[in-house]
Amino acid sequence: ERPARTKTKRVLLAAPRGYCAGVDRAVVAVEKALETYGAPVYVRKEIVHNKHVVETLRERGAIFVNETDEVPEGSRLVFSAHGVSPAVRASAVARSLDTIDATCPLVTKVHKEAVRFAKDDYDILLIGHTGHEEVEGTAGEAPEHVQIVNSPDEVDQVVVRDPDKVVWISQTTLSVDETMETVRRLREKFPSLQDPPSDDICYATQNRQVAVKKLAPECDLVIVVGSANSSNSVRLVEVALQAGATASYRVDRKVEIKDEWLEGVTTVGVTSGASVPEILVQDVITHLAEHGFGTVDEVRTATEDLMFSLPRELRAGLKAAG
Ligand code: SF4
Repeated sequence: ERPARTKTKRVLLAAPRGYCAGVDRAVVAVEKALETYGAPVYVRKEIVHNKHVVETLRERGAIFVNETDEVPEGSRLVFSAHGVSPAVRASAVARSLDTIDATCPLVTKVHKEAVRFAKDDYDILLIGHTGHEEVEGTAGEAPEHVQIVNSPDEVDQVVVRDPDKVVWISQTTLSVDETMETVRRLREKFPSLQDPPSDDICYATQNRQVAVKKLAPECDLVIVVGSANSSNSVRLVEVALQAGATASYRVDRKVEIKDEWLEGVTTVGVTSGASVPEILVQDVITHLAEHGFGTVDEVRTATEDLMFSLPRELRAGLKAAG
């Protein structure tokens, strides 16, 4: 009789994963601002939603604040990748702050949609999570016209002035499938609901979800590297579970991986959110190798080469500094 074949323990590594163009630009903006102007450089909110990134920049002289009134008058302030409302911009001007706007251009695009539809007096249904900085910024462009729809279940409560003049827009980092379900229910209620001019859920969010969906059905466990306040990272756990992973957990770093998660597991999927430096993923891979998961196969569903130029104010500053 032949001995039972041991299944090889392996890792399926999602690609694309990790840093997107908007995060890369925002982090480099703070680094360059520190290099060019010296510490301290103030940053409103977390520049990107990742603990490791924030701690590293803090060590280099960035000071993270919640609001502009915590910044000494005349100082330099960076707006985070998630964007800010016009009210925040105005308060920075009132304090004579030198601002560098690291808002991701794909978030700015959604702001412009909000402004445009508000000008045409539409009711704007912003699909997104109440309290998330990006949603506060986008809603703040047109507070009189925007209402936030958190989930498909909230559709029943939506009331508009004119059902023939309604548009939906969204946060950039949502689950594509859940958002489409919210839109489907909204359209049932408002058949003339207008779509945004282009996808608001950004390429990076979409690509990371497609990759994790592809590997999840083969996985006993999917580990998502990312911070608890990172919307797109949290969504990756949900998407992995919906796509058939037996279990899925989010960790900030490898020390959070519990040994019991790995018991009886043959295939582990690994991915990371758009704000996560690759070094944290490689730490997880090393940890898994130490636990017998030595084979790593990449599952790639797209190639990304998008890059954004640095914020305008910073480019001007760099030029002036020679
Ligand atoms: Fe921009 Fe998307 Fe990255 Fe957010 S996740 S910073 S919207 S590219």
